[in-house]
Amino acid sequence: MCGIIGYVGPGKASQILTDGLKMLEYRGYDSVGIAVLNHGKLEVRKDKGMVEAVSSALAFTTMDGNVGIGHTRWATHGVVCRENSHPHSDCTKNIVLAHNGVIENFSKLKAELSTSHKFASDTDSEVIAHLVEEYSKTQPLQKAFMRAIGRLEGSYAIALMSAADSEERLFLARRNSPLVIGVGKGEMLCASDIPAMLRYTKTFVTLEEGDMAVLSKHGYKVYSADGSEVARKQITVDWGLEMAQKGGYPHFMLKEINDQKHFINESLASDVTEARKLIDRYDRIDIIAAGTSYHAGLLLAYLLQGMGKGAQAFVASDYPFIAKPDGKTLIIGISQSGETADVLQAFRYAQKSKKIAIVNTLSSSITRLSDCVVSLNAGPEVGVAATKTFTSTLVIIFKIIYGKEKLEGLSHLVETMLGQENEIKRLAQVLAPKENAFFLGRGKNFPIALEASHKFKEITYIHSEAYPGGELKHGALSLVCDGFPVIVLAPKDEASQKLFGNIKEVKARGGVIFSVTDDPEVKRESAFHIDIPEGTDPALYPLALIIPLHLLAYHVSVLRGINPDRPRNLAKTVTVE
Ligand code: GLU
Repeated sequence: MCGIIGYVGPGKASQILTDGLKMLEYRGYDSVGIAVLNHGKLEVRKDKGMVEAVSSALAFTTMDGNVGIGHTRWATHGVVCRENSHPHSDCTKNIVLAHNGVIENFSKLKAELSTSHKFASDTDSEVIAHLVEEYSKTQPLQKAFMRAIGRLEGSYAIALMSAADSEERLFLARRNSPLVIGVGKGEMLCASDIPAMLRYTKTFVTLEEGDMAVLSKHGYKVYSADGSEVARKQITVDWGLEMAQKGGYPHFMLKEINDQKHFINESLASDVTEARKLIDRYDRIDIIAAGTSYHAGLLLAYLLQGMGKGAQAFVASDYPFIAKPDGKTLIIGISQSGETADVLQAFRYAQKSKKIAIVNTLSSSITRLSDCVVSLNAGPEVGVAATKTFTSTLVIIFKIIYGKEKLEGLSHLVETMLGQENEIKRLAQVLAPKENAFFLGRGKNFPIALEASHKFKEITYIHSEAYPGGELKHGALSLVCDGFPVIVLAPKDEASQKLFGNIKEVKARGGVIFSVTDDPEVKRESAFHIDIPEGTDPALYPLALIIPLHLLAYHVSVLRGINPDRPRNLAKTVTVE
């Protein structure tokens, strides 16, 4: 989980790497570094901190040279400090590398090497540089690199180069962590994802599991794990660079929430025919996802249960400890990045089952393990807190369950909900000084309450929990006291009446009700409410509810002086288990 970028060509590597790292920062942002090769001389600058601060303090862009690698870290092994920042070097300081992932057998390898190698960091990654150094004592660099990669267990995306390499090449490898090659004119790039390279090319090659590659300014070669050269398909994307930039908004998150006006129609156009056919053939369906996608998965499970299916949503990381999927179970995996390690391992565990992947990144690792892929078509999402990919997942789910016809009013509904931003800002003022909050929803709205609460705590650092309304009295009600904020997801549906009772219970204990609702009675009980437009199709309530609540989390976060795009301790594409 981190960002890697590499460049070889005629351009100024330090500038290209620094620009790329800024776009990759959402993947991890505790430390940053670049290494640049300039006519056989290698220079590394790195430190803890975010890209903007470190790159200007260490004047990254004053480094000359046309070949280089960069890394923005999300620490797994070793504290956040300069020594543990990437790129890492071997003993001779000739070989440097950036690594994303976890080398599971690093202790064994380190023990083996430590008699003759000196380690400068506590990371698992550094061991790779020393392994390559060791093997290159007796064989050419490319062979040494491949041999070293063959010794690694765990997950990795690696970019490596050597000052001793007169051909000035970049050596790449990946397994269970993403790495994409960017094919330019007279220049080559690599990065953890496509947006970081859009400024230079629209042509890409996605490396497959276990692949290795060598880049030079003349082109690239890809090798499979056994060392034989292989052809990998080139893809061309039509994303504009502006899609991966803030476009005048103060934060990616706000841009991405507003993007929904446009992307909702793109998501609606996504083809779900095959997915629906598969679903119709199965009685038992396991849905696997993590974080925000899990909340969408839970709603999907509820809706499938409504169709009479034996459907259940699982937190991906626990799936192998709970479920026993067989050929009679259909698996649906949801992952924005298509790289979520927990979902990947659950997919591998469910070997015997047919699988549908719902992802935003086609040709990602999860899609390669799937029998059917549904694209979210949401465009790049950079903010760590998923927003538009959650709503596009809802759109896909609705399309699978209800068909397209029912969704005609969707983009109007999205616009109406987004149009209440001023009210949402006022509500944010009230909530920003609080230390706790509850989100209540019943039935199909409970997964949305979970998502609203998840987003809220993630970027505001206010402790919050979501409950089905009926659960409060079984425990959490003891926390409700004077002024305690309870945000109620209260559309007029089959659960309204019961939820109304829960609202009364809260108020009787001094709690303050804030609601998203189209129910006049709930409005009367609320200190503040956000409107769901009259006549909204109940099937679309989950979407109407989440849009203002994502916006609410955003505004509370900003009022508390937090950068919602970079919540502490987190990263976007979670490629560790
Ligand atoms: N495991 C490596 C480290 O802790 C890489 C982490 C990452 O992917 O950023 O440095």
